[in-house]
Amino acid sequence: MIELSQSREQFSLITESMSEGLIIADQKANILASNVSAYVLLEAKPSPETHTVFSLCHSEEYRRCIHNAMGGIRAECILNTENGDRKVIASPANSPDSVNGFVVFILDVTEQQKLETMRREFTSNVSHELKTPLTTIYGISDMLANGMVKSEDVSRFGTDIRNEADRLIALINDIVSLSKLDEDSVPKQFEEVDLYEIAEEVISRLSISAKEKNVTASLTGSHVKITGSRTVLEEIIYNLCDNAIKYNIDGGSYTVKISHIPTKAMITVSDTGTGIPAAHIDRIFERFYRIDKSRSRKIKGTGLGLSIVKHAVSYHGGKIRVRSTSEKGTAFLVELPITKKTDGQN
Ligand code: ADP
Repeated sequence: MIELSQSREQFSLITESMSEGLIIADQKANILASNVSAYVLLEAKPSPETHTVFSLCHSEEYRRCIHNAMGGIRAECILNTENGDRKVIASPANSPDSVNGFVVFILDVTEQQKLETMRREFTSNVSHELKTPLTTIYGISDMLANGMVKSEDVSRFGTDIRNEADRLIALINDIVSLSKLDEDSVPKQFEEVDLYEIAEEVISRLSISAKEKNVTASLTGSHVKITGSRTVLEEIIYNLCDNAIKYNIDGGSYTVKISHIPTKAMITVSDTGTGIPAAHIDRIFERFYRIDKSRSRKIKGTGLGLSIVKHAVSYHGGKIRVRSTSEKGTAFLVELPITKKTDGQN
């Protein structure tokens, strides 16, 4: 009896510390043993009424799973509960010629399901975004090949093809940047970089598009150095400045400020542009999210810039915040760890 009680105690000690739910049942689905996680994950309460496996959840999928296990067949299903997604695995415990009972595992798969949905949406968005310019290119070149375009219109159609090809190249470049950041296996090749110098280079690279939009740029702050990836940091500043120009008003301005507090570097990119309505603030970092698609159509973009920025910031262990007032302007504040002191310059 002592041995039996010790082994029971040991069993419950092990199973109660598990975050996965575990239920052991006999061939009639009566619960022989279970842990707290099983009840928590299935959102059931232990009571005299919940003595069978069926009484813990009434979903059709779950019942089918349990019936299969009772019939000697291993079965799995996903349940969408109020608090998240659960994976239920029901496995028969067979002896050579009969089913003696079965074991049910319940896992919290909310995060995996979210990632899976994101991956699926991303693939379908990429295919859609690639198809649109390609369809236009195909249509125009078909007309050109069939001599359906008057000679005076050839140049206009040629420009349309080049614009659509530009869009394809921008999209592919953004997808490549994102997937590089997505691969956690890529070693972090960090070096000492001067954020002020990067900002200077970016502002100069963007000076033509700023001139076209009649937007003036200014750079303030100091030469703050951090340990990071030069190319990834360039992407952060480039994308933020590019947006500060694109979504600015004619004759507007934008400012990049590089500053620091003892352990953190701050990059602030503020503009005098159209601003971001409060309802959209939480969504602008999502892949392919563009506010007012019809309006943004006129402004070139892929909807991937800010998701690259967000990824690139967390790649450096930093944080990003947005402050925006409609019709007044927007400020993106990036906070990055400095990590290594250099010559007391930070
Ligand atoms: P896009 O390629 O469309 O610029 P982003 O991911 O960089 O994609 O930005 C997502 C959306 O957020 C943009 O389409 C735009 O509507 C909005 N946005 C981003 N930056 C700004 C800004 N500085 N001012 C106003 N709106 C902005």
